[in-house]
Amino acid sequence: MNSRYTRGMSSSIVSVDLSVGGIAARVARGLRIGRDEARWLWENASDVELREIAGTVRDRFHRPGSCTYMVMRIINYTNVCVAQCDYCAFYRLPSQEGGYVLSEEAVFAKLDELLALGGDLAAFNGGFNPHLLLSYYCELFAAIRARYGDRLEFYALTIAEFLYLADHAKLSYAEAAARLKAAGVRWITGGGSEILTEEFRARHSKFKYTVAEYFEAQRAIVAAELKTTATMVIGFDESVEERLEHLERTRRFQDETGGLASFLCWTFKPYFTQIGGIEISTAEYLRHLALCRIYLDNIPRIRTSVLTQNERALEGLSYGADDFDLPIEDEVTQKAGATISLDFERILNYARELGYEPEYRHVSVGESPWMAAQRVRAIVGD
Ligand code: SF4
Repeated sequence: MNSRYTRGMSSSIVSVDLSVGGIAARVARGLRIGRDEARWLWENASDVELREIAGTVRDRFHRPGSCTYMVMRIINYTNVCVAQCDYCAFYRLPSQEGGYVLSEEAVFAKLDELLALGGDLAAFNGGFNPHLLLSYYCELFAAIRARYGDRLEFYALTIAEFLYLADHAKLSYAEAAARLKAAGVRWITGGGSEILTEEFRARHSKFKYTVAEYFEAQRAIVAAELKTTATMVIGFDESVEERLEHLERTRRFQDETGGLASFLCWTFKPYFTQIGGIEISTAEYLRHLALCRIYLDNIPRIRTSVLTQNERALEGLSYGADDFDLPIEDEVTQKAGATISLDFERILNYARELGYEPEYRHVSVGESPWMAAQRVRAIVGD
């Protein structure tokens, strides 16, 4: 199938060849694809064709056959939340039974277990808990830094929790970021993004901040010289256009700030949630992963989700991904149906069977997001 469309201002209209060969040739020359080309690829390209084009972009950043991984745990420090997202099976309202907040000792026990299992990354993810003040977070993070130093790294909060925390403490995003940084925080990750369109958020999570607020907060985090990441979740009721809008906003943010260290996409687990539904197939996830790699040509590290796809996530290494977690816990997705295996060798062996040699990656080591972005700009000539 082959068609053409035009783009650009009337004085400089460019005719674009919408065919696999045409798009592949442009990508091979280091050129970007636009939304129309992405949509066309999604609707028309075969799996093999998507893999090949994604591989072209992956090879700009990573040696063929290489991949990295981390052993990590998500620490769900509280399940009390007022946001009431309809896709969440994890939260309890403040008045409901079953709500909890982990003590410092309980957090330390989880971190000790993580180290014992060979991991060194923890990611804190809880809810919008109105009973937790900024002091709770600052004291907890300072205590972790004091106890573990650089033996482990932690993602302190997601952007969504950061937004709630700043609002609750009546602080600007810049002030909230500075307070957390002073407490030893180095990372605030891009979680809580799901699908970054205002329409999606109005449908499913109207108390979880707007897209504009999300990026405003992330801009403040980058300006405070904290590290951050981009994420995405697919498999709700989002349209292809909404997925493309999410990718376009993410790419634009990276062009503007260079602050995104990586991009991770995972799939919605619908069990025991209010909206329910059925999971999308692994095949659809893999195709989407390829599209992410092709579209996000300014983010070197594209991650595939073992948490929601188990070892089949590693097939994503052939669809443009280069990195993955081996998680030992995440109550949020486990409550909605995710299953976790601690048989790391079996999972790593699957990567080897697929032709990849996994290397452990320590999150605190390596080039900064800014350096990575500079390197990408040099490569794509942006
Ligand atoms: S997804 Fe997060 S913000 Fe939304 S209800 Fe669940 S815990 Fe709260």
